[in-house]
Amino acid sequence: MRLDVPTLFLMTVAVTFVVGVLFLLSWSQTRRERALAIWGIAHLLGSGASCMLALRGVIPDPVSIGLGNAVMIGAYGLIWSGVRAFEGRSPLIGWAVAGGLAWGVACLVPAFYGSLPARITLASTSAGLYCALGAWTTWHGRGEPLVSRYPAAVLLATYAGLYFIRIPLSLVYPPPAIVPGSDSPWFAALCFVGTLYAVAVAFVLMALTKERAEREQRIAAETDALTGVASRRAFVGRAEACLATRSAALLLLDLDHFKAINDAYGHSVGDAVLTAFCHAAEPMLPRGAVFGRLGGEEFACLLPETGPALAARFAEGVRDSVGRIAHADYPDLKVSVSIGIATGRAGSVLDDLLRRADGALYQAKDGGRDRVMVAREPAFGLAA
Ligand code: GH3
Ligand code: MG
Ligand code: MG
Repeated sequence: MRLDVPTLFLMTVAVTFVVGVLFLLSWSQTRRERALAIWGIAHLLGSGASCMLALRGVIPDPVSIGLGNAVMIGAYGLIWSGVRAFEGRSPLIGWAVAGGLAWGVACLVPAFYGSLPARITLASTSAGLYCALGAWTTWHGRGEPLVSRYPAAVLLATYAGLYFIRIPLSLVYPPPAIVPGSDSPWFAALCFVGTLYAVAVAFVLMALTKERAEREQRIAAETDALTGVASRRAFVGRAEACLATRSAALLLLDLDHFKAINDAYGHSVGDAVLTAFCHAAEPMLPRGAVFGRLGGEEFACLLPETGPALAARFAEGVRDSVGRIAHADYPDLKVSVSIGIATGRAGSVLDDLLRRADGALYQAKDGGRDRVMVAREPAFGLAA
């Protein structure tokens, strides 16, 4: 089989154009991810550049060689720029187009313009560097766990490697001066692999943005919007998973006379009290505690492998810390919490624990509030 360079160029032009349009369409749907727009423009420019390079010998050389390569290098710069934007960093568009501009300036020097190895060295070095920077930036953002992050970094790094390999290859086996229609097996193979890489890179970049959107939605569903602690859904899921294999103590925490706080100081102060409550309570809980907002001014905490006495000590710590909440504008504002505790063995049902903790919480409220009550262990139970 013979790889035909002009056909490969045509395929690259068409595929890169379609990918660019898809990026822009994807961006236009939400307009939230700026990187998609930058990658879209990069691919459209890349398609235009491939077209100019493919028409070598048909259109004037300064357009094909000079402008074609300048735009191509700029397109790689914009891929890196898009990666930076994706990572929440400044896209540095100036640096992204600097490579293409440098190429244009170098082409004005006759000694450079007349030397094919010099041109291949500069073009490949610039494009390779942008790909390498893209790989490094993707790797650097690995604190945000996205499945496609590693394939993206590896693909961009090997894409860079591919460009760097072109340099010694072109020095040892110079390609014919007129590329399209020429018979240079390694050049044709590199074109082919390059096109495959361009498609693969576009695919993982698209996957990255999709994974981020999904991750953000998942985090939003698992987080209480006001306080930032786990939502009821997330708490129940985590607590049930923990109870399946470990014994635990469940704390049910309800702010006292919270309606009166809302009535006296306003809803926004009430909201601030809920957030302050979480800030006061969370540091008093041990590592491994599952804490969440069940709704309104009711919170729950599951302490794995904790008996009633120790659970009551943690609860007293929370109660004490909440009692010290102060609002700078309202010195007379007092906050207190009542806490009901129930313990259960591994395999207990969360609903049973919640019901018993609720009974203890009712006793705490009934007994005057601002106190901790522990539910009695059930006298008997079903053997597992
Ligand atoms: P108790 O001591 O018996 O628990 O009395 P309470 O006033 O705390 O309980 P009650 O159930 O009567 O009132 C709870 C109030 O919490 C009523 C509701 O308006 C308020 N609330 C629920 N969710 C929020 C919220 O997100 N922000 C604010 N500011 N208030 C909320
Ligand atoms: Mg209450
Ligand atoms: Mg309540």
